[in-house]
Amino acid sequence: MAEKRDYYEVLGVEKSASIDEIKKAYRKLAVKYHPDRNPGDKVAEEKFREATEAYEVLSDEKKRPLYDQYGFAGVEGADQAGGAQYSHAFHDFSDLFGGMGGGFGDIFDNLFGGGFSGSSSSRSQNGPAEGSSLRYDLDISFRDAVFGTKAEIRFKHNEVCDSCHGTGGAAGSSRKTCPTCQGTGQVRRSAGFFAVQQTCPTCHGTGTVIDRPCSSCHGTGVQEKSKMMMLSIPAGVDNGKRIAIPHQGDAGTNGGPAGDLIVVIHVEEDRFFERDNQDLYCAVPLTMAQAALGADISVPSLDGKQISLKIPAGTPNGKLLRIKGEGVPFTGSTHRGDLYVKIVVQIPSKLSVQEKALLEQYLKLENATTSPQLIPLSSLNR
Ligand SMILES: [Zn+2]
Ligand SMILES: [Zn+2]
Repeated sequence: MAEKRDYYEVLGVEKSASIDEIKKAYRKLAVKYHPDRNPGDKVAEEKFREATEAYEVLSDEKKRPLYDQYGFAGVEGADQAGGAQYSHAFHDFSDLFGGMGGGFGDIFDNLFGGGFSGSSSSRSQNGPAEGSSLRYDLDISFRDAVFGTKAEIRFKHNEVCDSCHGTGGAAGSSRKTCPTCQGTGQVRRSAGFFAVQQTCPTCHGTGTVIDRPCSSCHGTGVQEKSKMMMLSIPAGVDNGKRIAIPHQGDAGTNGGPAGDLIVVIHVEEDRFFERDNQDLYCAVPLTMAQAALGADISVPSLDGKQISLKIPAGTPNGKLLRIKGEGVPFTGSTHRGDLYVKIVVQIPSKLSVQEKALLEQYLKLENATTSPQLIPLSSLNR
């Protein structure tokens, strides 16, 4: 096998390319080199395979960083499975492309368009088919994730056509036997080593076509529409959480149900707080004297309150102190996790004359050794 080309080079994009740029680049190559468009052309076939493999890795938010860091070795497992994935991907494509005749660009628009990656649902030959599920990526702040919020989302999806109510036919039109497949719903295509029985591109497997298609939807039975929704984001959602909103994806065909809208939550980072499941972490500074003598301080919580915290005498640098019930709410409950406050003891870099005199006096009292023993590393709170 020839030496593999870098995936970014294959798609002709920069290493910093956004997912949209990657999709666009792949789409261009896939349209150009698809085997259906280049029957028997081995070079095109290889280019298509190469681009598909590159796209599968670079469009995968888990695989891409592995590839960036380790190259092909990082995605080798994926590469081995890649043969199977590729043929799977091809079957999906051949179905999509085969069903499209002249217009497979439309399907690509559905697959890659509008900021969504639609997951195409399996299509049955004649009967009702469920519409595609759509994905919406929603960014929310750290605080909103912890305490919950309402978010307005706007998206485009396919709805059942108002004019023909999904039949795809103009008023008074009727169905006749499909001239392409003579009513069987299937055609046989050969393209290089891919020879497959495919769904008829003209009638999409139904065996009949409408004599006068609906002018609003051009016979598809669906129309793209913009939609606005208010979402309630529950308190305590974590990064990567998926919220499924039933039947707000694309409309189904032949009376099938609509797909779902899947909202994927992306939580922004906070400057002062980190999260580990239901617990929050923050850090506060203490002076040497406060740490040694103990102190009563107040710490700002994530919701803006001041919480009093007792620092025991002799608190070491790096100590985690727990404040119960000031963490992240458990979803659907009033119970909350805890807030952990990390103590950072500050050593003064500038001393006043008086401070210096006092510390020198303290040092004499302390009688510190100038040849200390080593500390076992295992005893350190690292
Ligand atoms: Zn047909
Ligand atoms: Zn219509």
